[in-house]
Amino acid sequence: MKHTFIIFFLLLLFNTVEAKIFTITCQDQNNKEFYTYLEYLNDPSASLSIKNTNTLFNSTFYTTQEKNAHLGLSFQNPVLWSKIEIKNSCPTQQERILSFKKITFKDIQFFKRDHDQLHTIEAISLINNANFKLQVRPQEVNEYYIRFVGDGPYIMTPRLIQSDEAIMGAYKSAWFFSFFATFVLTAIILYLLIFIFLREVMYLYFSLHIASHLLLWLSVYGVFTLIELQLVKVISIFISSVFITLLSFDFLETQRRMPKLSKSILLFLFLMNSYYIFGFYFNIVEFIAPIFGLISSITYLLIIVSIIKSIQKESKKAIYLLLALGGYILGYYITIVGVFTLGKVPVTDFSLSAGIIGVIIDIFFVSLAFIYMAKKTYKEQRNLLVDYSKSLEQKVQERTLQIKEQNSLLHKQAITDALTQLPNRLELDRQAKIFFENQTHSDYELFAIIIDIDNFKMVNDKHGHLFGDTVLKTISSILNKSLKVHDIVGRWGGEEFLAFVYVKNRENILKISERIRANVYNHTFDDGFTVTISLGLSSAKDKSSITEWIQSADEALYKAKENGKNQVILSN
Ligand code: GH3
Ligand code: MG
Ligand code: MG
Repeated sequence: MKHTFIIFFLLLLFNTVEAKIFTITCQDQNNKEFYTYLEYLNDPSASLSIKNTNTLFNSTFYTTQEKNAHLGLSFQNPVLWSKIEIKNSCPTQQERILSFKKITFKDIQFFKRDHDQLHTIEAISLINNANFKLQVRPQEVNEYYIRFVGDGPYIMTPRLIQSDEAIMGAYKSAWFFSFFATFVLTAIILYLLIFIFLREVMYLYFSLHIASHLLLWLSVYGVFTLIELQLVKVISIFISSVFITLLSFDFLETQRRMPKLSKSILLFLFLMNSYYIFGFYFNIVEFIAPIFGLISSITYLLIIVSIIKSIQKESKKAIYLLLALGGYILGYYITIVGVFTLGKVPVTDFSLSAGIIGVIIDIFFVSLAFIYMAKKTYKEQRNLLVDYSKSLEQKVQERTLQIKEQNSLLHKQAITDALTQLPNRLELDRQAKIFFENQTHSDYELFAIIIDIDNFKMVNDKHGHLFGDTVLKTISSILNKSLKVHDIVGRWGGEEFLAFVYVKNRENILKISERIRANVYNHTFDDGFTVTISLGLSSAKDKSSITEWIQSADEALYKAKENGKNQVILSN
């Protein structure tokens, strides 16, 4: 019993001692479990240095109590030392890479203990990873010390892996990060150019918003180290929050539609940024972190509320904006808040890249919103153009019709006698030609009738010109009514008229002419006044020209006048 107890105690002691030494075996090439052998020593005042290694060797390191330490341990202290003893149980020399994600802290130094001295092991720095080569001879126990310098809270992400895996990991991160940087940079340039050409301020807002993201992540990944990370965070939070707010205001007309809510958003935006700038200025950022987190969460929550309220009106645009904002806030909260600041989110490739993925999502969805808006504007303008061209077409049609009407009116006026409304001399000349040319193809005989009012000078002299005009109008109307539609009568000049009449035989023309003469003779003007007319007739048959034809009608008229007027004479 006593022996058992001693053996048990010795075993326990041995195990405790042995437990502190990590053993590399030949089978396991990547030893992920080794993190449990890492011991820690906080150095808040940064007083422990390698010059005085004895202090370090004699200090009490402790093993972390945290589970899943391989996923990353969060530390608030500015300087931390870590110690590990590694033994090679393999008969051959073993080489491993101790790899850390460098993005989580400012500086890292790796030392190997040789008796009472610490020797620096140079880091193989591959993008955002710090790698140290360990070479352990068979059966040898090596002791290593690691010094971390933080910039605010930071995490450890230790992995003991093979060289090729370290290189692959570095390639992967390099590829991913350069994709991200190129993507964001392209978007910034693109939207800046669009802003310059279109003068739409929302494109400027967005390019500034994503430029601040790029600044932040370039700094976090250690690509951009001109200014300290805290200052970058202040600038980036300021720019990104202000411009995403302005963008959402511009997109959804928040200030006009929701004046009260937009005032609250602006108030919290102001509080959030001034609070953070204040904290940075007095170097108490970490102290104010929880309150800052609360205020910034409220600010973004209010913006999200304003977007959700707009979904009914601006469905697509608002949904895109919501997804964009949701993406980048979620990413930011996972990586910066969850992993770096609070250390509550396990460190994985995803949790470390969530912030970057969020920015990509942000750019993607805001771009969709821009495309949607451009499409909408294009459609509206096209519809406007269609409407405009339609009304233009209608106007042109109306105008053409008007011109046509005016033209036909003008034409009518040009060929009509203003007083009697009968065809004028011009038209009669034209009609004479038509009638004369067509008469040969007709079975009918064509006649010209010249009608002259008898003693019209006397009518004028006795009753005045105005009455003379009335007489001219009345006789015109009688002449018109006495003829058929296909015949024509016009004013030849003064008180003379000319008619072209088709008849089947010669007797008919005398009948028609007699009827005209009788119609005029039988018409009684005021005061029982009557007027007579004389008519000269001539057939177009056997006439060589229009002149000859009309001349012969005129001669017949002359004879009628000579014979005592008020009669019809047919030329032979
Ligand atoms: P005759 O029987 O021989 O034809 O005698 P007349 O008086 O009719 O013939 P004359 O040629 O001597 O006179 C024609 C008159 O017609 C002269 C002119 O004042 C008149 N006259 C011509 N055009 C118009 C018009 O538009 N209005 C009026 N009121 N009179 C007109
Ligand atoms: Mg006359
Ligand atoms: Mg006369």
